[in-house]
Amino acid sequence: MKGPPYSIDNTPVYSMDMEEGVMGIADKNGSILLNKNITNKEEQQDVINHEKVHLDQMKRGDLDYDDENVTWKGKKYSRKKFDEGDTTLPWEKEAYNV
Ligand SMILES: [Zn+2]
Repeated sequence: MKGPPYSIDNTPVYSMDMEEGVMGIADKNGSILLNKNITNKEEQQDVINHEKVHLDQMKRGDLDYDDENVTWKGKKYSRKKFDEGDTTLPWEKEAYNV
């Protein structure tokens, strides 16, 4: 099903195609991208809540990223050296506590 983007607390959320295993992305422009294969409402909300923490981290300046690196509180982490699904990463720890 395709519909117009909906918004949660003024955060735009877009459903889209994503690579396997990626549930959502906190976009640097302030929107949340949601894997369109997630159709369960509760699961969608979980992903949105999680990505909202990352948006907040970026807004307050703790988190930044590009294709190569994630920067957390001024420290660069090469994407090649960590597993994106690792819940113990400093920026993920906070997001999984929600
Ligand atoms: Zn995360």
